[in-house]
Amino acid sequence: MKGVVFPGRRSLELADFPDPSPEAGEVVIRVMASGMCGSDLHQYRSAEPPTCIVGHEPSGVVEAVGVGVSPRLARVGDRVTVHHYAGCTVCDECRSGWYQLCREGAVRYGADAHGSHAPYMVVPAVTLVRLPESLSFETGAALGCGSGTAWGALRRLGHLAGADLVVSGQGPVGLSATMIASAIGARVIAVDVEDSRLKMARDFGAAEVVNPREAPVNETVRELTGGVGASLVLETSGAPQAGTAALASLATWGRACFVGLGGGAFEVDVTALLRTQATIMTSWTLSISDLARCVDFADRYSLPVDRLFTDRWRLEEAAAAYAAFDQQRNGKGVFLFQ
Ligand SMILES: [Zn+2]
Ligand SMILES: [Zn+2]
Repeated sequence: MKGVVFPGRRSLELADFPDPSPEAGEVVIRVMASGMCGSDLHQYRSAEPPTCIVGHEPSGVVEAVGVGVSPRLARVGDRVTVHHYAGCTVCDECRSGWYQLCREGAVRYGADAHGSHAPYMVVPAVTLVRLPESLSFETGAALGCGSGTAWGALRRLGHLAGADLVVSGQGPVGLSATMIASAIGARVIAVDVEDSRLKMARDFGAAEVVNPREAPVNETVRELTGGVGASLVLETSGAPQAGTAALASLATWGRACFVGLGGGAFEVDVTALLRTQATIMTSWTLSISDLARCVDFADRYSLPVDRLFTDRWRLEEAAAAYAAFDQQRNGKGVFLFQ
């Protein structure tokens, strides 16, 4: 089969690999959709990219099952999404569903082991989450990382119903946070420098939108909250100035969560924050049990996750797909296999 590899510095090849077969405890997935995620772009641009097949938002159908796999975990023909990490399965972090935090060292599919930008992928059966018929494979792919990251961060923030929540950055993760938090009952104040993304945020349920190019974010948030500030802030853009503005928007006792990658460091004024009792936290994707809850929620609330995708590609178009993604002008991209 052909799989996408990144030789480095914005180059891409479709290389030949043997079709995989499952070892004990593993399954082979026939990939139906493989999402393009922000961290793929970091790898694509890197001078030291991974050497394996890339892609870590797989969704598809179980094609083959290895020995010792319980039918409760996987059966041939199951529609699935994948928690794209493997761990030792016995340390405290693995046992609580956080394979990416494994104390023995986690395998990240698409970075440390072959990922999903290929027609087939092999993973441990314990990484699968079943996908209901009502959810498309594209949605299954997005929930596996980008939209799942929004879910995981919102779970960490907590106290969403009725809260004023600033979602900083309205790329695929921020837009997912806007749609999920709005469905839970938060009043979302969406922030982005692109008006087209703010329009999408409105469509996904944002109560208010703020463009930092037109008005300072923290001042606008205070106006919109009667001078109080937002009790919750989720920063998804990774831009240092967005981080500073996010913290300046917090209410007393406010809670801020950071998930944006690649923006680099910014200074935190501890003296100013100290008098607000603020909590600052980070969040890395989500646990497999949260992924299962997120799939259920998307199903029950008919979340319009498919509408995040603006670009649908065949695997043969991978070079063009990543060249377009590198411009960061569109929404989310996905490879479809049928
Ligand atoms: Zn472990
Ligand atoms: Zn990702």
